[in-house]
Amino acid sequence: MAEVSRVQRAPDDLFLKIVAGEIPATIVHSDDLVVAFEDVNPQAPVHVLVVPRERYENVAELAAASPQALARLVEVAQRIADERCGGEHRLVFNTGTAVGQSVFHVHAHVLGGRDFTWPPG
Ligand code: AMP
Repeated sequence: MAEVSRVQRAPDDLFLKIVAGEIPATIVHSDDLVVAFEDVNPQAPVHVLVVPRERYENVAELAAASPQALARLVEVAQRIADERCGGEHRLVFNTGTAVGQSVFHVHAHVLGGRDFTWPPG
């Protein structure tokens, strides 16, 4: 059932369209498992989104289905942070509308280049 719902929602998946090149984005990394691109509404000097090529709704689904893609995603996030802001960064996976998830294709926010407060708002 979960698989059916995943496929049915795929045509509306904004990030799948970016991965497929159907919607423009500033791509900063692309490989066989993940794609990274600049967030269109940056919240920090460094704000890159890293997404798996395959659609999974959230990070738990991705971890269960493709731990290799999740590991690659984290590796790429760290590399981007190393290159752009000395390695220090905040890696965020929003899961659910209550905490701010608006695109239901799992994505990591790589945020850096300024000081951050804790706890997050
Ligand atoms: P979230 O709220 O965690 O689901 O994050 C979704 C992110 O996608 C937000 O930070 C948006 O600014 C970003 N976003 C939405 N549309 C685009 C787009 N076309 N290209 C790049 N980033 C986008």
